[in-house]
Amino acid sequence: MLHRVEGSFNMFAYSDEIKEMIRTDTIEPQNENKTVEEEKTDSEVADGATDEETKELKEREYSHPVYKQIAFLNGKINSYSKAELIKNLKMLKLDTDGSRSVLAKRLKTFYKKTMLNVSGIQEQNGSSKIRILFDFYVIIDYEATCELLRNSDFKQEIIEFPAVLLNCQKGEVQDEFRSYCRPVLNPLLTEFCTELTGITQNDVDTAPLFTEVLTSFEEWLQKKKLGTKYSFAIVTDGPWDMGHFLKSQCALSNIEFPTYCKYWINIRKTFSNFYNTGKLPLSTMIQLIGREFQGRAHSGLDDARNIAFIVQRLLKDGARIIFNEKLVEGNARRRDDGNPFFSAPVHNTEFKAIQGKFRPNFPQRKSSKI
Ligand code: AMP
Ligand code: MG
Repeated sequence: MLHRVEGSFNMFAYSDEIKEMIRTDTIEPQNENKTVEEEKTDSEVADGATDEETKELKEREYSHPVYKQIAFLNGKINSYSKAELIKNLKMLKLDTDGSRSVLAKRLKTFYKKTMLNVSGIQEQNGSSKIRILFDFYVIIDYEATCELLRNSDFKQEIIEFPAVLLNCQKGEVQDEFRSYCRPVLNPLLTEFCTELTGITQNDVDTAPLFTEVLTSFEEWLQKKKLGTKYSFAIVTDGPWDMGHFLKSQCALSNIEFPTYCKYWINIRKTFSNFYNTGKLPLSTMIQLIGREFQGRAHSGLDDARNIAFIVQRLLKDGARIIFNEKLVEGNARRRDDGNPFFSAPVHNTEFKAIQGKFRPNFPQRKSSKI
């Protein structure tokens, strides 16, 4: 038998059915293990739980009856049809955009937060449904030289360097950076590359070299007081932007890999863990949040803008958007095309250890011939 959750529910517009469940003293949890496990993977852990986190969650599970009630509610929400989810979300005046798994997670997160607030476990935090862990996210999506048949002998060079600056508190895009870069090893773009990315020969012929673009990007970050007054984290779709494109470009340009890019947020992973969808390409994530892809796929800036929509949705739905990948030396993993990438998962405990201590430095870069 569960205990009643103490506190007032009046401030929240609960649907009657769920309000009834919460108030009932005699509810027995259903699917308890499954739903608690889901809680663990969805909201507590960036990239799979450590033994320590699992233990902590188990302890919490029994330390307060509210966790059993949350587990029960999650089981109930899991059984809802999409129409039932929409009905409940509407009653709560929450957004109803998105796929079934996105809607279910939104409803679960709302009830979990509310119940934890009401039971005094988590402090009520005013209007902030958003979990602010960084002041800004800097969303990057590189485009690179390529050939129709991908192979690892072709050295890819970054040809578009876009960034979208998202203010986490406001949930708004505040600025954008974009520059094309002039490739040196393969200065002539293939027809395939132009068709894929929309980047023309003229765009790259008139562009600065990568090292100069990186310097301009760092000046832009500094102008925004990122890394000094404000904290920020790099966000990408997949491990390749940092773990492959930037890593190999820095080696080619003979410059150091920027420290502020050594940890990043792979949004594909965050999305998959939070909404429990499995890892999906950008276009599918966009569909699942109930939007249409804006602009041209494989244009770096358009890709970055669409990633920003996903970050905004995740923030609104209460996800913890934290570092979940980092650069590693050696032990390359291979993409389907044979190209190496150098990344490893960052778990919650590691994130906690580095949070707030992670400071970028912006080195003076000598001009380079590449
Ligand atoms: P994306 O961020 O998906 O636009 O891809 C980044 C870069 O990966 C592109 O600029 C290309 O260099 C390469 N790429 C992406 N898709 C393909 C493809 N289908 N074939 C060859 N290269 C690709
Ligand atoms: Mg792209």
